[in-house]
Amino acid sequence: MNLGKLKKLLANYPDYRWDQVKRAVFQELITSWEEATALPVDLRTELAEEASLGINAKEVVSLQDETRKAVIKLEDGSEVETVLMPHKTRNTVCVSTQVGCSLNCKFCMTGKMGLVRNLEYWEMIVQALFFAREIGKIDNIVFMGMGEPFLNYEEFVCAAEFFNDEKTFNIGARNISVSTVGVVEGIKKLADADLQINLAVSLHAPTNELRSSLIPVNRKYPLEELFEAIDYYLEQTNRKVMFEYILLKDINDSKNDARRLANLMKGRLHFVNLINYNPTGEFQASSEEKKESFKKILENEGVKVGERQSFGEDIKGACGQLGKN
Ligand code: SF4
Repeated sequence: MNLGKLKKLLANYPDYRWDQVKRAVFQELITSWEEATALPVDLRTELAEEASLGINAKEVVSLQDETRKAVIKLEDGSEVETVLMPHKTRNTVCVSTQVGCSLNCKFCMTGKMGLVRNLEYWEMIVQALFFAREIGKIDNIVFMGMGEPFLNYEEFVCAAEFFNDEKTFNIGARNISVSTVGVVEGIKKLADADLQINLAVSLHAPTNELRSSLIPVNRKYPLEELFEAIDYYLEQTNRKVMFEYILLKDINDSKNDARRLANLMKGRLHFVNLINYNPTGEFQASSEEKKESFKKILENEGVKVGERQSFGEDIKGACGQLGKN
């Protein structure tokens, strides 16, 4: 399915046709143009010939927690992975923004692939559409899949706006989140954008030395610059920032690391999310005891802290595991 081509095709028609198509494809979740009964027959025939609704995907389902991972084959043969995390009350899709990634974070499978290419916004939309057709309504979108969203900023924003559009998925901005490893220009642009979505920052280390060894792009955007951009974001938006911290055994989980992290987290809108490491070969996860003591230190210092549950580890669909496995 090529949404870009579909939109171009409809440029020859009045605007309301595009609205009707959006409703049919993203709300009624049609899989054949024959079902789009609001459209005239000749337009349906043209669309059936020119604009396939098919999505070429392979899917695996976790036996542990029903997480689903789909590998979507794109028109140029590239493959992109996306994950659905079904919960009792809400369904969340983790959307990829690039095929591969240039940033090579040491705990991440995608980073090992290098960057193949940026995705177009509609190639992000198709990821959620695939799952919507299977389970119905999607409630949350997290741009936390393959790639660094802020290195494909314009397309990521288009996708976020599209998800938010009441004529398509109608997902509230507060239910859309983007995660960055700290691309400072992107944080500032998002601060100025008219888009009320949530920001998460993959921090993973409290010092420049350690962070640069785990996230090489920290050399370009060291902690001082990163926090300057975050301060700007907080000033402009007054919205909380979630700091993600993967606990790696004997790497970033010492008491000193916790105290240093607490020192960075002084603002009332800073939140820390502790994440269990999902095996990608290089590191080991911290023990439960280590995690508890790390968390206690943060709490005692007045830091708001939570834990992020991991989903889909058995299908290599958890954080850091997307890519060529
Ligand atoms: S963690 Fe994100 S930014 Fe880092 S290599 Fe993986 S996909 Fe890229």
